[in-house]
Amino acid sequence: MTSRTAAAARLLTATRLDRLARLSWRGLLVLNYHRIGRPGPADDPDLFSCTAEEFARHVELLAERFEIVPAGSDDWQVGGPARRVAITVDDGYRDQTQAAEILAARGLAGSFFITTGFVDRPRHAWWDEIAWLAGGDPVDLPPSRWIPRGLPASVGSTRYRRRLTTAYKNLAGDDGEQFLDDLACCTGRPRLGREQAADRWMTWDMVRELDRLGMEVGAHSVTHPVLATLSAARQHEEIAGSVRRMREELDGPVDLFSYPVGARTSFDETTRAELAELGVRRAFSFYGGVNGRGHDDPLDIARAGVFRDHTPEVVAAMAAVPGVLCAPSRHA
Ligand SMILES: [Zn+2]
Repeated sequence: MTSRTAAAARLLTATRLDRLARLSWRGLLVLNYHRIGRPGPADDPDLFSCTAEEFARHVELLAERFEIVPAGSDDWQVGGPARRVAITVDDGYRDQTQAAEILAARGLAGSFFITTGFVDRPRHAWWDEIAWLAGGDPVDLPPSRWIPRGLPASVGSTRYRRRLTTAYKNLAGDDGEQFLDDLACCTGRPRLGREQAADRWMTWDMVRELDRLGMEVGAHSVTHPVLATLSAARQHEEIAGSVRRMREELDGPVDLFSYPVGARTSFDETTRAELAELGVRRAFSFYGGVNGRGHDDPLDIARAGVFRDHTPEVVAAMAAVPGVLCAPSRHA
């Protein structure tokens, strides 16, 4: 979808139709970023949205064209400008503090969602460890409970890694450690230790600094599982546990949440009931889409992802016609 998005973006800009196109929608477009920078060998490259320089350019182009509001602001459905854009950043990686500084320098507020377990006990996230374990010399994986038909190295390194990530999302559930142990065993690469993850995540002081810079800060679970694959008791631990830790550390109200992974199937009625019980006011998904002014489901606010191959001009075009370029059917 991305090359089509880029082609549409070029066409919009070349024909100067983007200004007109912007009038085609009303509501709130929530963009979602992940990592800021460039990936190393123990990083899932698919999680990188842009470099800090590119992020600054995204913000510049968006701010020229739209009102940028915090994703938790509660007045976007009435009055004021018809089109608003919010910038959200998920997971709590340390490199994301650069995004907060860039937004704050312009007097803008973004929204940052923190995986509290990674702050409390830093370790590599499962997707990063999969990238590491799958990143050595190519190895054919035999059929297993995780990959019933096996996985030949001949599919190529990107597809190989993505198939493993998909298998983890679909099947690992509470057995994520076993999945990673089995993968390490097959590929012959060592599991990553906690000592190698010390600098990956923000500290609580850094999270408080986001708050001080005027950013919104919300919860994103304790360990970043796919919530809907868990038992109700485990969902409670992940959701209530993360919200409670945020409230303790920030000493204030924390009432925003973003769903780990964020597909339609990543959260369910149990997830929603848990959030409602905790007084979470708004929760964010991640399968594309734009929120019209009549949007009436505060526990499923749509977000569209920004990925590495989205140039600043593509991001501006996505915001000009989100009904097309951020539609769920076209979303990565
Ligand atoms: Zn996440």
